[in-house]
Amino acid sequence: MPERAYAEIVVDLPLSRVDQVYHYAVPERFRTELCLGSRVLVPFGRRQLAGYVVGFRSQAAVEQVKDILDVLSSQPAFTHELYTLARWMAERYLCTTAQALQCIAAPSRGAGPRYEEGVYAAPGGGSADQERLTPKQRQVWRTVREHPGLTRAQVAALSGVTPVVVARLLEKGVLTTSRRSVARNPYPVSQTITELPRLTGEQLRALEAIEKGFQAQRKEFFLLHGVTGSGKTEIYLRAAAGALVQGRQVLVLVPEITLATQLIHQFKARFGDLVAVLHSRLGAGERYDEWNRIFRGEAPIVVGARSAVFAPLQNIGLFVLDEEHEPGYKQEEAPRYLTGDVVRARAALSKAVVVFGSATPALRTYARALTGQQHQLLKLTSRVDGRSLPQVRVVDLREELQAGNRHVFSRYLAGRIREKLDQGQQVLLFLNRRGLATIVLCRACGEALSCAHCAISLTYHRDGSLHCHYCGYRRNLPAACPVCGGERLSRFGTGTQRVEEETQRLFPGARVVRLDGDTVTGKRSHDRLLDSFREGQADILIGTQMIAKGLDLPGVTLVGVVNADTTLLLPDYQSAERTFQLVTQVAGRAGRGPVPGEVVVQTYHPDHYSIQAATSQNYELFFIREMALRREMGYPPFTTLARVLFRGRRESQVEQAAQQFRELLALPEDGRIQVMGPAPPPVARIKDYYRRHLILKAPKRKELRMLLVETLDKFEAGGRNKVLVGIDIDPQSL
Ligand code: ADP
Ligand code: ZN
Repeated sequence: MPERAYAEIVVDLPLSRVDQVYHYAVPERFRTELCLGSRVLVPFGRRQLAGYVVGFRSQAAVEQVKDILDVLSSQPAFTHELYTLARWMAERYLCTTAQALQCIAAPSRGAGPRYEEGVYAAPGGGSADQERLTPKQRQVWRTVREHPGLTRAQVAALSGVTPVVVARLLEKGVLTTSRRSVARNPYPVSQTITELPRLTGEQLRALEAIEKGFQAQRKEFFLLHGVTGSGKTEIYLRAAAGALVQGRQVLVLVPEITLATQLIHQFKARFGDLVAVLHSRLGAGERYDEWNRIFRGEAPIVVGARSAVFAPLQNIGLFVLDEEHEPGYKQEEAPRYLTGDVVRARAALSKAVVVFGSATPALRTYARALTGQQHQLLKLTSRVDGRSLPQVRVVDLREELQAGNRHVFSRYLAGRIREKLDQGQQVLLFLNRRGLATIVLCRACGEALSCAHCAISLTYHRDGSLHCHYCGYRRNLPAACPVCGGERLSRFGTGTQRVEEETQRLFPGARVVRLDGDTVTGKRSHDRLLDSFREGQADILIGTQMIAKGLDLPGVTLVGVVNADTTLLLPDYQSAERTFQLVTQVAGRAGRGPVPGEVVVQTYHPDHYSIQAATSQNYELFFIREMALRREMGYPPFTTLARVLFRGRRESQVEQAAQQFRELLALPEDGRIQVMGPAPPPVARIKDYYRRHLILKAPKRKELRMLLVETLDKFEAGGRNKVLVGIDIDPQSL
């Protein structure tokens, strides 16, 4: 039997129970065409389904083997390493291998190579004929000899003639054209670096540790904890160069592509077209070309957002995860992976070094590094230029209220803004993302109404009721604050739009731009808005956390956090962590230019440890306080959480399914695995699909996973396919 007589196929099936590799015969006519990662059509039961080729064999394991029906795409969509990674994902995230592969596979739909006509000297149209050419024609001839393959328009432009002259020579047969494929380049190199900065002592030590990691030729994880402006990017760049020198490749990840432009340009400036860029906002054609450049080994450095973690590099030596704490690293559709964990798994396969970089590391990562669990801690404690971190002033909004000021801006912040505007300096106003959940806050004591069982804020619903969306607890809106008895309870949520309106009312002469999900739709419009602000075409920039991170805005001397509480009171066990991160990061935006920076943080909770720690840029203080709380409440990193999400058209069916799933859970007697719910998630209905979830909490990840697999099997065997079930391990926003 020929070696490729049979293929191993992962078929697109939604159920985990049937997640396995199936064998099909490869008909003679497909045998040379197919390769690992090809997409094929196969008979499955009475249906025809698509699947991926994941291997070949000379014999089939079973008697009755059906034929592959058709080849949908013979282009390889992944590498062997990525297939191994897909298997790992299926197990870790309880999805099917097919789902993992769909997420990993090359973008194929509607894209192909782009061709251009290049102009060349015709064979035999040689120099002898030159005598018969006009001076203009001779100039064109010389251009083509020097630069073969240019387009007609380019040849004409370079020769200083009209395209007619080029056309005439083509007619005469002196020149000829030929089709060639050209790669679309989403980020042309705009500048090049000639001189590298001298590394500081701290940078040198960090880099040395990382480079030792390369030499060891095994996986090594580093947490690079460096305050904003401490020169982490320079370390990424040097480490990347080090990896290239060793013949290894580099994968650099950023949490959101809108923030990556500066980083992309820095890498391009140093490494030119060795850099490929991958993210979902590229055009289909651009993505196709970049993917293929990487696959062919032409671009050993890849910079990209979350999905670029699956870039088809074949010999990665270095992974960089910049701003590793960011929620953007979580994939919110199945397979619901955490990019950092996928990176760890992939680094183990390719024996690579990983650098997790952040000024405000995720609690989980920092805890691992502190205890030396596979992660080494590298610290950068000072800014490279010796500039001090900005002054932070906290404004207590409760005092503003008592003074009768109900506006968005405190008297202090308004005064500072006015002064900066008078001095012709720029101001950044920062707001949390438009909160999905509305919470209720006591204006007197600043407390949010919260669930006694879960220690998270209750969510206000339109009918006037309050819900805990972890455990399902529910109550009516009380007349007075249960903590202080105050009677001014108000619903809470400040949008960027309202801030913009008040800004314009208060500072009528100021030029204001707003940057959030409403005003920004594409990568380019985001860059345009920022560029115009950087060039001084506006005075005040208002934005959500999009603007909080990674940006160099040297003209900004004042940063205002309009309301730190919108994050702090978010109904989420990570709300304090998010608040600390955001305030710290925002503060890092101020004073990057020659004028020292100044930060004003408005809050109803000036004494909260996350605000205090952020204003003094004291990560360790925050870490200790937050870890104590997490331990007490049994939240990660002391436990693993999982969320089981149920979705369906009929609310009663969804509720019933969630109840039934809960009853199917065979929980250990001693209560070490806890189940909360069913409860409605913050958004209880999306596009006419009702939603309920269960939240599980367990000390051991593995045990939790096994419990879920078992339960899922029983549940699927019951065949309730009118309700969709999704599993989210390590959910990031609950
Ligand atoms: P971080 O990523 O830690 O916030 P950056 O990498 O953006 O900090 O560095 C801040 C600025 O300092 C950048 O403009 C960078 O080019 C510059 N820089 C980095 N390292 C050095 C160095 N050793 N000497 C001088 N300037 C440096
Ligand atoms: Zn609760």
